[in-house]
Amino acid sequence: MPKRTTHTYSSEDAAPDGPESDLFVYYCKHCGSHVLITDTQLQKMPRRKTDRSSVLDKQKYLARLNISEAGKVLLKRGEGKLEKQFRMACIGCGLFVCYRSEEDLESATFIYVVDAALSSVAAETNPQDAPVPPCISQLEGGLVQVAIEVEDRAQRSAITRVNADDVRVAVAAPAARGEANNELLEFMGKVLSLRLSQMTLQRGWNSKSKLLVVEDLSAREVYEKLLEAVQP
Ligand SMILES: [Zn+2]
Repeated sequence: MPKRTTHTYSSEDAAPDGPESDLFVYYCKHCGSHVLITDTQLQKMPRRKTDRSSVLDKQKYLARLNISEAGKVLLKRGEGKLEKQFRMACIGCGLFVCYRSEEDLESATFIYVVDAALSSVAAETNPQDAPVPPCISQLEGGLVQVAIEVEDRAQRSAITRVNADDVRVAVAAPAARGEANNELLEFMGKVLSLRLSQMTLQRGWNSKSKLLVVEDLSAREVYEKLLEAVQP
C-alpha cells in the first residue's frame, strides 16, 4: 500500500464509512465530469432488457449523483404501456446520463445508468502526479467548477481538506447566512488570486455544499492553488 498524504485524492478519502468500503467514481464519457460515486461496479449490476441501462439499487448501494435535472419523459413500451423517466444530465455537458422512475430522487429505489454513458477511472495514488480530483471539474467555456463543503462557525477562513468529493473550506460565519457566502468568496479570491467578478457561487446539494465556478484558470491550476493553501 503506497503512503498517502492528505493532499492525495484517493477513493479512500471519500469513503463515508471508513477505509473498508471501496468506492468507484464514474465520469461522463463525453466530457469527463464527475457524475456518480458508488460502492459497486456498474459492470456488475443487472441491465434492463429494454435499453441496456445498468440498474443501481439505491437500497443496497451508495449512489451520490452530481447531475442536473433534465425533465420528465414518457416512453411507449409495448401495447398501451407507458414508462415514465425522470432524466438526469451531466453537469459538464448536459448529456443525458441516467434516469429514475420516481419524481423524488431521494426516495427513488433505482437509478438507471444509460448504457455507455459513464466510465470509471482508477483513483491515482501516487502523490507526485495525483490527478485533479473529480470535485474540481472543467466546464465548457473555460470555466472550472469546484464542489465545496463549508465548515461554518470556524475560528478563521481556511482550506482544511481537498479530497475526491469536495474541497472543505472553513468560514467563521454561520453557513445559513449570506455572510458565509461573502466570506467564502473573498477567501477563495485570495487563495486563487481572482477578483470577485471572476467567480460565481451556486447552491450545492445541501446548505453546506456550494459550487464555485471560476474563470481564467484551468482545473489543474485551481487544484494546485488549493493544495498549496491547505491547512489541516
Ligand atoms: Zn458530460
